[in-house]
Amino acid sequence: MFQQFIDILGENGVIHGDEVKKRPADWVGSSNCNALAVLRPQNSDELSQIMKICHSENLKVVPAGGLTGLVHGTDCQNDEIQISFERMNKVISIDTVGKTMLVEAGCPLQKIHEAANEHGLMYAIDLGARGSCTIGGNISTNAGGNQVIRYGMTREQVLGLEAVLADGTIVSSLNSLLKNNAGYDLKQLFIGTEGTLGLVTKAIIRLYPKPVSTNCALVAFDSFNQLTEFFGLVSNAFGGALSSFEAMWGNHYELLTTRSNRHAPPIAIGAPYYAIVETQGFDEEKDSENFNQVLENLIENEKLIDATICQNQTQREAIWKIREDIIGLYQLLAPLAIFDVSMPIVEMENYDKNLKAAIKNEFGDAAEVITWGHIGDCNLHIVVSPKVWNDDTHRKIEEHVYSPLKPLNGSISAEHGIGVEKRDFLWVSRNENEISLMRTLKSALDPKGILNMGKVI
Ligand SMILES: Cc1cc2nc3c(=O)[nH]c(=O)nc-3n(C[C@H](O)[C@H](O)[C@H](O)COP(=O)(O)OP(=O)(O)OC[C@H]3O[C@@H](n4cnc5c(N)ncnc54)[C@H](O)[C@@H]3O)c2cc1C
Repeated sequence: MFQQFIDILGENGVIHGDEVKKRPADWVGSSNCNALAVLRPQNSDELSQIMKICHSENLKVVPAGGLTGLVHGTDCQNDEIQISFERMNKVISIDTVGKTMLVEAGCPLQKIHEAANEHGLMYAIDLGARGSCTIGGNISTNAGGNQVIRYGMTREQVLGLEAVLADGTIVSSLNSLLKNNAGYDLKQLFIGTEGTLGLVTKAIIRLYPKPVSTNCALVAFDSFNQLTEFFGLVSNAFGGALSSFEAMWGNHYELLTTRSNRHAPPIAIGAPYYAIVETQGFDEEKDSENFNQVLENLIENEKLIDATICQNQTQREAIWKIREDIIGLYQLLAPLAIFDVSMPIVEMENYDKNLKAAIKNEFGDAAEVITWGHIGDCNLHIVVSPKVWNDDTHRKIEEHVYSPLKPLNGSISAEHGIGVEKRDFLWVSRNENEISLMRTLKSALDPKGILNMGKVI
């Protein structure tokens, strides 16, 4: 069977036998790839040919980008083929007038940023995994990141795309126009559907003029009310210029600074809440004057308890490194469970307090709950470190994290998708009719059930 794939992809395009196990199953690297083989096409035609074989032989496939999804969306059974997009990683072209970029699915996010930057342009999705994650993975998970509050999620950046269907058909829907209402918007079938309806091969994404100024501050608050009031005030004061509003609960900030010595604390520890506030603009001098003025007013009016305004890029990076230190959390708190949920901002304080109480009640006083996230987007990330771990620990933690979301109309997945990990809890965020329509779409596009089976639904 491998020979048919080698005939299409060449020796380099097919990894099988012991070589498969040498590849990690995910970004965390806790286990090895379990697939029957890894196929590495170099273009859509090659992918189409191998999908025709997989379809006729009922071989199940699992698409894989940078493996940073963290919900086991790329896990493979030992009879499944992993389709890796690592050899489809090019920026094909940039239209600087229309401000669009044509990219291959395996192109790393960071490479897209660099290519846009060379033309004085910007791609608006940015996230901590930028060096490893791919645009195909970002599209398939509808990734969010640090600037959603201003630019929206990946769905808002994709103008058109190309996908290979389960039977090998190439659907090229590479629209580059901002306005195109000619019939169904087919790209939506593949955005946020985690490789269960088709394999994304190319995309046309929107670019923006690159802002010339970025102003950033780290602010501390003595209560959640103070934080939300501050959020309202800066949203009004900065209007569309506000590009990030990221919160860190006090224990998250303290853990990654003084408690672990991983990062120097830019302002004192001890406050219950911290936030990174960032604006982007096009007039360096005026933007910085306005930013400082707004924050100084808020300090004078006691709308916060402590703040530092970054004077340069180094100070800004130091603050963001604390916020993005996911590796630090793994190293300091493992064994742990990590979550990505959303709910109305006004519910967050109580949700977090109740969760902390429930986790301590279940696992004892040593257990820790660390909370941070894209609070301006209603999105919290949570790490639960119970300190003891056995077979049912993860499931018990999931019950505590997910069940309270139902009455809040919250979501079990703000960004990372469902994968395998959250599948059994989909009912918390989607009703019966929604799930039934998802199944209808799945069977229409993948009647033989070969695309990323067992994921999402
Ligand atoms: C440090 C860190 C920070 C992160 N921060 C954020 C954040 O701020 N916001 C956010 O949204 N996410 C974040 N994530 C999660 C992750 O980076 C995103 O979900 C990202 O979009 C996944 O991209 P990937 O290329 O790694 O995809 P993978 O993990 O390889 O795959 C993700 C899913 O997409 C499918 N898939 C991959 N490529 C294709 C394709 N070409 N066609 C069809 N299906 C495909 C896979 O089968 C899988 O179901 C973070 C992760 C880490 C490790």
